[in-house]
Formats: sequence, C-alpha cells, structure tokens
Amino acid sequence: MPKYDYLIVGSGLFGATFAYKAKQSGKKVLVIDKRNHLGGNVYCENVEGINVHKYGAHIFHTNNKQVWDFVNSIVEFNRYTNSPVANYKGKLFNLPFNMNTFYQMWGVTTPAEAQAKIDEQKTEAVAALNGRDPANLEEQALTLVGKDIFEKLIKEYTEKQWGRNCKDLPAFIIKRLPVRMTFDNNYFNDRFQGIPIGGYNKLIEGLLAGVECHTGIDFFVEYKDRWHDIADKLVYTGAIDEYFGYSLGKLDWRTVSFKTRVVDTPNFQGNAVVNYTSHDKPYTRIIEHKHFEMFGQSVYECPKTVISEEYSTEYKDGMEPYYPVNTSRNNQLAEKYRDLASSEKNVLFGGRLGQYKYFDMAPIIEQVLNIKDF
Ligand code: FAD
Repeated sequence: MPKYDYLIVGSGLFGATFAYKAKQSGKKVLVIDKRNHLGGNVYCENVEGINVHKYGAHIFHTNNKQVWDFVNSIVEFNRYTNSPVANYKGKLFNLPFNMNTFYQMWGVTTPAEAQAKIDEQKTEAVAALNGRDPANLEEQALTLVGKDIFEKLIKEYTEKQWGRNCKDLPAFIIKRLPVRMTFDNNYFNDRFQGIPIGGYNKLIEGLLAGVECHTGIDFFVEYKDRWHDIADKLVYTGAIDEYFGYSLGKLDWRTVSFKTRVVDTPNFQGNAVVNYTSHDKPYTRIIEHKHFEMFGQSVYECPKTVISEEYSTEYKDGMEPYYPVNTSRNNQLAEKYRDLASSEKNVLFGGRLGQYKYFDMAPIIEQVLNIKDF
C-alpha cells in the first residue's frame, strides 16, 4: 500500500495550496521540490533584513474575495499598492497613464485638456495610415495613444523587452492601452492587493505547516519511475514537455535576468518599481525590494537597501523558464502535450509550468480552491 495519498512535485503556490487543502481533507501528502528551498517563484531571500524577490517582483492582487480571504487566513497582507514610475532620460512620469502622467507630459490640468491632446495625436497617427490597418506595433500604439506617450513611455521600453524594433513587432501584441482621466497611480484595478506581512515565505510556511516536504529532489531523478509505489496520486507542477521527455519537441520560454546588489543608502529610488523607458539604460526596470514591505519612517530604520536591475534575456537551456511564448507553434505543441496529459491516470498537471500558461498568483490559488474532491 502506498504511504501517501499524494506526491506533489513543486512547492510553488499551486503545489503548496494543494498540499494545504489535501491535508485539511485528512490526506497524507509528500511535497518535493528540485530547488533547495520551498515556495517556487514567490520565494524571497532575506538580505540585510529585506525580503528580496529572487525570481522577480511579485505583487498579489485580486478581485476574488474568496481568494483574498483565503490568503489572509494564512497570513495577513499589508497595504502595498503598486504605483510604478517611469524614468525617460531622467524625466519621471507616473504609471499607468493617468492625469498625473498627462500633467507631467504636457502640463494639462483637466481631463478635457488631456483628452483633447491625446485625440489630436491619435488623429494624426490615423491620418498617416491613409485608411489601412496598423501594420506593426508602432503604428498600432500610435493610433491608440499618440506620439508623445508612445515615444517616451512605450517605444524603447518595448524594444528592450522584445529585443526588436517596434516596427518589426506585430500589431496584435498591443490590443488596448488604457488611459485614466483621473489622478490615480494605482496600477491594478483589482479590489484587493498587498504583500504578505513578513514576506511571501510566511505564506508558503503557513500553507505547508505540518506537511512533509523535501527540497533538492528532482522528480525525474528520484521518483518518475516509482512514484506509484509511494503515492496513489501525483500532482505535477513541473514543465509539461519535460514530463513527456520532450517527445513532441521543446516548448519555448521567455526569461528575465536580474542583477541584484546591496546599496549603502536607506532609500535608493523612493519606490518599489521604476521602469526605464529609454535605450540609454540597458535594463527595463529597477526594483527596490524594501518598499514592498517598509513604509514611511521604517524605510530609514533599515540602513541599507537592495535593488535588482531587470534585463530581458533570450531563453537558453538551464535558465529559469518564466513566460510561455505565445506563438502558434508553441500553442499547438502545448495543446498536444495537454492531450497527452489528460490521458495520464491519477496525475494532475497544475500550475504555470504544468499547463504552459501564464497565471498570476491569485488565479493559481483559485484553481486549487475550486477543486472539490481531494
Ligand atoms: P512555480 O512557483 O514556478 O512552482 C513550480 C515549482 O516546481 C518550482 O519550485 C520548481 O522548482 C518545481 N519543479 C519543477 N520541476 C520539478 C521537478 N522535476 N522536480 C521537483 N520540483 C520541480 N503573479 C502575480 O500575481 N503578481 C506578480 O507581480 C507576478 N510577478 C511575476 C513575475 C515574474 C518574473 C514571473 C515569472 C511570474 C510572476 N507572477 C506574478 C506569476 C507567479 O509567479 C505565478 O502565478 C506562480 O509562481 C505560479 O505558481 P506555480 O506553483 O504554478 O509555479
């Protein structure tokens, strides 16, 4: 008789939430992770008393009250509100595009003035197309927000992200560019947002309390051929193509690399997220991690700070697979792997790697909360 009801591969938010719910239902669970820590991509490393988001800045946000109540039942969340700032050649603009941005861009002070300015520039861009549809990202963005916002806040940032000129990128990448005619710098429209008090590791520790967990264990090395001997069911949150030995081909990923360093000042940039929207800086953003969890005077009670420069990087084997690449080749291949997955007995493929789909944290938790039978 297998010792466990579930072997869970991966201790990210999908695996950890599943383990929590399964344990609540009286099931015996073993969680393994190939990394040397728990938590998957939300894991934070403590440096100089600051929680550093090792795998990229994570801001929890949701409209789903059930998910919000659930995570807050594990650990209380703070009041962090994501209000990024853009730095274009030393001039600062608030994001997302709102009345503060328009004031900084044009000196306009009323919504009517801002709208008139945007409409004038959009009309120019539409006229330049002579009745044809936008043929690339540059033309598309110009028709949506006009020249000034495009050139200062979109063009070079997007080129750094994709490593290509905006004229060579397809128009469909940008479908909408919402503009807010209010003085509202809150990036998300969701009702709830924040960071767990004490950091994301507290959330993971709460989810996995009392669950047997082993780190530094690769499923393919230790358990692939013998998991049936130890567990009735498998929850697999690793990469779906790897599970099938890449038999149909490899799925592509996009990645980001980080240069993280300690700076000997209590407050480096005054905000958690600053986007660098011009080519004169090679990175796309600088994250100053302390601002996710320290507010007001407490910023100065911690004498140092930790910053991460983010660089868009082409994915190669061995790098962290971060974002699925949305091409028809990848979408079709992923669908074929999902077909294979659906016929695997007693195996649940979950999470972003197991489904080859980008999900924010809240939808990942929601997926597990929606499972009725553990
Ligand atoms: P993961 O956290 O990746 O966990 C999968 C785990 O499986 C990993 O720990 C891995 O080591 C383990 N594993 C894989 N293969 C094996 C194997 N063979 N054997 C053993 N273990 C294995 N969401 C938001 O809501 N807000 C944000 O601000 C946000 N920012 C993000 C920034 C970046 C750069 C990225 C990439 C994502 C961001 N997300 C954000 C999304 C968020 O990271 C995901 O929703 C979440 O991590 C998904 O959890 P998961 O369990 O599916 O995957």
